[in-house]
Amino acid sequence: MMMPPPEISVIIPAYNEGESLDRAIPIIREILDTCVKDWEMLIIDDGSRDDTYPRVCHFATEDARIKGVSFSRNFGKEAALLAGMKHAKGRAAITIDADLQHPPAMIPELIAQWRRGAKIVHAVKRSRKKDSLGKRFSAYLANKIISRMGGINIRNSSDYKLLDREIVDILAYCLPERERFFRGLSSWIGFEEEYIYFDVSDRIGSESKWSFWGLMELSITAITSFTSLPLRIITFLGIVTLGLGFGVASDALWSWYQGEAVSGFATLIITLLLIGSFIMISLGIIGEYIAKIYEEIKARPPYLVKSTVGLDDSRPNP
Ligand code: UDP
Ligand code: MG
Repeated sequence: MMMPPPEISVIIPAYNEGESLDRAIPIIREILDTCVKDWEMLIIDDGSRDDTYPRVCHFATEDARIKGVSFSRNFGKEAALLAGMKHAKGRAAITIDADLQHPPAMIPELIAQWRRGAKIVHAVKRSRKKDSLGKRFSAYLANKIISRMGGINIRNSSDYKLLDREIVDILAYCLPERERFFRGLSSWIGFEEEYIYFDVSDRIGSESKWSFWGLMELSITAITSFTSLPLRIITFLGIVTLGLGFGVASDALWSWYQGEAVSGFATLIITLLLIGSFIMISLGIIGEYIAKIYEEIKARPPYLVKSTVGLDDSRPNP
C-alpha cells in the first residue's frame, strides 16, 4: 500500500552525536507534533564511532515516523545532507544539526513561511557570541572568502533551512556534482527565498567536529565549485609581471649599452625567488581545480549506505 507523503521531513546529519540525539530527538518531535499533522524524521548517521546508530534504531522502533540511514564510514556532512534529501518523502524538508545549535523552536516559523509560499527558507545566524574567538574568526573568514569569490550571498547563513519538495528534487537529482557545498547550492538555485534569524546557542554533547583546516577545505570546495576567478587572477598577475619584466629588461639593456657593468646579484636572487614562488602558488591553484575535475570525473558515489531503519527503500545506495 502506498503511504501518502508526510507534510514535513526533518533531516538530521549526525556524526558521533549519540548523546545529543538523546536530547534533540524528543525536543524536535514535541515541536513537530504541535505544528504538523504528519511528519517524518530522518537521521543520517555519518559513520559515527559511538552509539549514534543504535540510539537511532531504538527511537525508530518506538516511533515509526523516525527513520535512520547509516553510512559505511564518515563521508562528511554534505554527503549526509544529500542522503537525507534523497530519502526524504515530505512535501518539504527541514535540515537541522543534531547538536541543538539550530534552535528547534524555530521550526514552526520555517513552516509558516513555507505555507505562505516560500520555496526556500534560510535560517540566518544573528550572532556567534557563544563560539570561541578562533572559531568565529575562521567561520567569518571562510564565509567572507566564499561570498566574495563565489558571487553568492552566504554570509552568516547556516545549514538550517526549509526546502520545498521542488527544491529537494533539484538538489538531490538535478545537480550531479559530487563534491557539494549545500549552503552555496541552495542559494545558487534561486526561487522564492525567505530569511529568518536566530541566535546560535551552545552546542550540546562533545566538541564541534570542524577543525580550522576542515573549514579551509570547505572554503576551497566552495570557491572551486562556484568560481574560476583565482585562475583569472593568475593570468592577470602574469600580465603584470610581464610588464614589470619589460621595464627591468630595458633598464638593464640601457645600462649595458652605456658600458656600465650590470651589477645587483641581490636583486637577481630576490626577483628569482619571488617569481619562483608566484609560479608555485599558481600551480597550486591550478592543481586545486585539476583535483576537483579528477574527483568529479571518477564519479564515485558521494556516500555508501551500510544499513537503514524504518525506510521502505530496498536499495538505499545512490
Ligand atoms: N556532521 C556530520 N558529519 C561530519 C561532521 C559533522 O554529519 O563529518 C554533523 C554533526 O553531527 C552535526 C552537524 O553536522 O549534526 C554540524 O556539525 P558541528 O556541530 O560539528 O559543526 P558546527 O556547528 O560547528 O558548524
Ligand atoms: Mg554545531
